[in-house]
Amino acid sequence: MNTPIAKPWIEAISAYTPGKAKSDDGRVLIKLSANENPLGCSPAAATALVDKSTSLARYPDPACTALREALGAAYEIDSDQIVCGTGSDELLNLIAMGYAGAGDDIIYVRYGFSVYDIAARKAAANVIVAPDKDYGTDVDALLALVTDKTRVVFVANPNNPTGTYTDDAEIARLHAGLPGNCVLVLDQAYGEYLEDDGPAALELARRHDNVLITRTFSKIYGLAAERIGWCYGHAGLIATLNRVRAPFNVTAAGQAAAIAALADTDFVTRSRQHNAIWRDWMVTEFAALSNHGLKVIPSWGNFLMVLFEGTCSAETAYHALMAEGYIVRWLPGQGLGNGLRITIGTEDENRGVMSALRQILDANA
Ligand SMILES: *Cc1c(COP(=O)(O)O)cnc(C)c1O
Repeated sequence: MNTPIAKPWIEAISAYTPGKAKSDDGRVLIKLSANENPLGCSPAAATALVDKSTSLARYPDPACTALREALGAAYEIDSDQIVCGTGSDELLNLIAMGYAGAGDDIIYVRYGFSVYDIAARKAAANVIVAPDKDYGTDVDALLALVTDKTRVVFVANPNNPTGTYTDDAEIARLHAGLPGNCVLVLDQAYGEYLEDDGPAALELARRHDNVLITRTFSKIYGLAAERIGWCYGHAGLIATLNRVRAPFNVTAAGQAAAIAALADTDFVTRSRQHNAIWRDWMVTEFAALSNHGLKVIPSWGNFLMVLFEGTCSAETAYHALMAEGYIVRWLPGQGLGNGLRITIGTEDENRGVMSALRQILDANA
């Protein structure tokens, strides 16, 4: 047969499964499935975005200069060591492409972010999955898999979908155990939800030439629709990413919105506080449901991974919640068929989903 055939390593990719916004029968649901900010975004960011609609014929700044300078000032880092991307997803893919290829290894931890798998396979690299420790990163298990073929190690911290966090000392120990030619990627998509904003990762990247930090405007800043991410690291690493990125990879509106969002520190603080209060509330509510076999993994993000170890399965709860109007994330494809990931929502959404879940558990007891 004479027909186009994709490369085998591309054929082996399972396409990314996004969080759903509708039920299987097409109803619009309360969406607690994609870790979006329930408070929306900064009003200033929305205004900045609309203001850009008067100049749509012009290409955006290809270098994201003003945004990088704003990031550099906010984090006290060199703006020349930052590259922006079409979401941090693009940057994760570029890192894999830039540093690994056929025959090389890329390691990530089981229950890590699903994009790492896709990024590694796209690069034709071998995917090496390290066993987890209590659903989180096990530094020793990870280091045990490092060989002279290892080129990239991806660690999300806090991790998605489990919410686990690896402390600064453990991350430093991981870095110290890696060979100098291996890039350690610390994905801080949820860094702004940490009390201290996770500065130790930036410091590690400042001091070493094989550490990259990725961050995003999609989560606490509430700009997921605009696809804006950024990456910080040694000049040599950033030069690689600039070689392989698309020329105009962040829209003009996105750049303007991100700059305004970064300046609105009140909105970020309010979002972090809202999340902390309601995450605690949800944890307490789930603890009261432990008699139904529910177990919550401690989370440092804007979501909770809840394990269903009683008579009601995660799958049953997932479909029943959908019938009640709530969409959460069920991830059997990532080996988490026994759990549901639930994004912290507004007060009404949180109370609503907990009340619906309580009834579902009682009905399936
Ligand atoms: C959401 C998320 C990202 C990517 O977000 P973008 O919208 O592409 O910036 C990256 N890593 C983790 C762990 C995430 O949860």
